[in-house]
Amino acid sequence: MSALISDEVTSADMANLPLPESYRGAVVRDDEVDMFEGMTTAEKDPAKSIHLQDIPTPEPGLGEVLVAVMASAVNYNTVWSAIFEPLPTFAFLRRYGRTSELAARHDQPFHVIGSDMSGVVLRTGPGVTHWRPGDRVVAHCLSVELEAPDGHNDTMLDPAQRIWGFETNYGGLAELALVKANQLMPKPEHLSWEEAAASGLVNSTAYRQLVSGNGGGMKQGDNVLIWGAAGGLGSYATQLVLNGGGVPVCVVSNERRAEQVRSMGADLVIDRSAEGYRFWKDEHTQDPGEWKRFGARIRELTGGEDVDIVFEHPGRETFGASVYVTRKGGSIITCASTSGYMHEYDNRYLWMSLKRIIGSHFANYREAWEANRLIAKGRIHPTLSEVYPLTETGQAARDVHRNAHSGKVGVLCLAPEEGLGVRDHELRARHETAINRFRNR
Ligand code: NAP
Repeated sequence: MSALISDEVTSADMANLPLPESYRGAVVRDDEVDMFEGMTTAEKDPAKSIHLQDIPTPEPGLGEVLVAVMASAVNYNTVWSAIFEPLPTFAFLRRYGRTSELAARHDQPFHVIGSDMSGVVLRTGPGVTHWRPGDRVVAHCLSVELEAPDGHNDTMLDPAQRIWGFETNYGGLAELALVKANQLMPKPEHLSWEEAAASGLVNSTAYRQLVSGNGGGMKQGDNVLIWGAAGGLGSYATQLVLNGGGVPVCVVSNERRAEQVRSMGADLVIDRSAEGYRFWKDEHTQDPGEWKRFGARIRELTGGEDVDIVFEHPGRETFGASVYVTRKGGSIITCASTSGYMHEYDNRYLWMSLKRIIGSHFANYREAWEANRLIAKGRIHPTLSEVYPLTETGQAARDVHRNAHSGKVGVLCLAPEEGLGVRDHELRARHETAINRFRNR
């Protein structure tokens, strides 16, 4: 442990550290995938299905890297894995396992979950030249093979594209993690381990969805409606819009979250609970009157303008309203369907007003790198609110499932306490307040 934290240790020292035969990881288990049968989504408790288990240490294969994980973070995909929805992730692991001898290691009766991490490179596999033992890194979660031409311009289009720690094994909620070398990026050195681990998945996703030409291609002055603006994705989307000269219109569900988005510099905030929007009259019928009331509220805030871009992820519950309130020629960019994936909207408002619906998923290598660069330069900040020890990963995921958190929920893995790992104290001092604005302490 001291070797991982010390500034004195050389790359050769790290390479000579003996690897443990096993390590502790947060897992879901194949023999428990039916444990929530008959329950509603809300009743399923991630704290019951996530366990801490000893995992045999995998040797890094061709192009792979074994990392000592200092900290990780919970993502909503941790929740999906733990409640086995929309299907158990073991189906992904089995399919991956069939593709090659190296990939076969991923097909196990356990799934080490987690798609974010910060840590120190322990071992590099054959063919890895860019990273060395001792390098301090964060990982993005895009795993691709790039053998087929489809992904050569945009790595997200690789037919073998997988999300590490969700569709692959040996993820980040653990003491060690196995990644492909090209998932690694330099750790932002003004951040602690847990702060550095918080952003990768959501920041990269929001970057592609809003900023990249593959998503919204947001330009200066654009009005952007952001659902869940104090949540994981939304707290980064809000910052990206402000950083790019746009105008975020932030939707949240309580006053505390409204304060959090205001603290980031967003002035236009809608409290969807206080204002009581009910876009669905019942399970099958939407209420266009409520779409109109919501649109009128947006115009009231913007001085009569509609939104150029909608940052969509709640899905079924909000999608009809999102299509309605988008301005003529604007875009609805969707990356998820938390409340249900069978969306309904009135298509007349789409075609007659020349709007576009764009699907977006994570980010390609380049987008993930650019998103991390914004963090490293102190332009975008982590929105960590709570930090749990690895032993309480289940509780951390339960908070996210119940929408009881804001921003990101972190997990300490090998880092013995919070606050370690900062090297660039000057940059930190400049942004200390912004880095801490979501913290509950
Ligand atoms: P999160 O931290 O739970 O934040 C989501 C926010 O959405 C919440 O803070 C909540 O804010 C709001 N929300 C929840 N249910 C809502 C509803 N029915 N109507 C309106 N707002 C609602 O989760 P996240 O990390 O942002 O992820 C959100 C979704 O995106 C998840 O389904 C996740 O799996 C998906 N995702 C997809 C990708 C991808 O690459 N495709 C990447 C990241 C995440 P308020 O209650 O304050 O309004």
